Amino acid sequence: MNAQLTLVAGAGQMGSGIAQTLLQSGRSVILVDINDASLERGAAAIRTGLAKSAAKGKISSGELEQAQSRLTCSASLEEAAEQAEFVIEAAPEVMTVKQALFRTLDARCAAGVILATNTSSLSITEIAAVTRRPENVIGMHFMNPVPLMPLVEIIRGLATSDDTFGQVEALAVSLGKTPLAVRDYPGFVSNRVLMPMINEAVYAVYEGVASPETVDGIMRLGMNHPMGPLALADLIGLDTCLSIMETLHDGFGDSKYRPCPLLRLYVKAGWLGKKCGRGFYQYESQ
Ligand code: NAD
Repeated sequence: MNAQLTLVAGAGQMGSGIAQTLLQSGRSVILVDINDASLERGAAAIRTGLAKSAAKGKISSGELEQAQSRLTCSASLEEAAEQAEFVIEAAPEVMTVKQALFRTLDARCAAGVILATNTSSLSITEIAAVTRRPENVIGMHFMNPVPLMPLVEIIRGLATSDDTFGQVEALAVSLGKTPLAVRDYPGFVSNRVLMPMINEAVYAVYEGVASPETVDGIMRLGMNHPMGPLALADLIGLDTCLSIMETLHDGFGDSKYRPCPLLRLYVKAGWLGKKCGRGFYQYESQ
């Protein structure tokens, strides 16, 4: 799969991290975003990330130059799709957005091209259902920050073929990641376990049990978590956290997954976490 030209759709924090990881492993990437400023920011984040990898000695200066030269950016999903040999979608966690993207990708990509989604919680089967190639649609769920985190959760939709699964598993290994396969149920395993804990931490703040700093301090110092749940929510993005809780709530119909009203309020305010400069904490630069 070394020569593959991968289309990464969505140049936000996940899309740029995925693109950087692909570039570092010798692949070519076309990065696509509907928003020009986001595309610019994503490309800048990739350049910074690659430079950091070179400074840490993970890639040589020659590899850095080559990696940079293998990145192209495009505002046209249609044109990029016609060239793509593999696709990873990392657009917002909204089913209608992902389905619209997959319709276009399916119409424009060559037959047999695998369409992977980095969704955190949405049904792979439901995304695949809008395409004429459900056997080539799969969940490839990277963790944030992508260049550092070893896990890729791989999710098979109902119709995903063994060949598609095998190719995606091999790709994850070739990127230096550990793939773990799960079935297509809301939140998969990662966010079914993580997100209710984050939501409960938000409830603790909402109910005045403790401040964000104290909640996070308790989980770091008492439970040995490297990062408190509210700082992690800010890193993930509070809009993404809310979407995942809604998917769990709708998908299981169980009130234990109801999103905390404070999480909804922050999202309504546009306090989406680190990427916006404000969430449970304030950040100087994004
Ligand atoms: P983000 O908000 O940082 O980036 C999303 C990007 O998609 C933006 O740049 C936006 O302009 C772009 N976009 C919107 N509509 C588009 C379209 N139709 N075509 C192309 N680009 C479009 O979000 P993110 O945190 O990078 O999350 C992206 C996906 O990755 C979501 O599905 C999310 O659930 C998943 N994910 C997020 C995390 C995390 O920690 N943030 C971890 C794993 C998976």
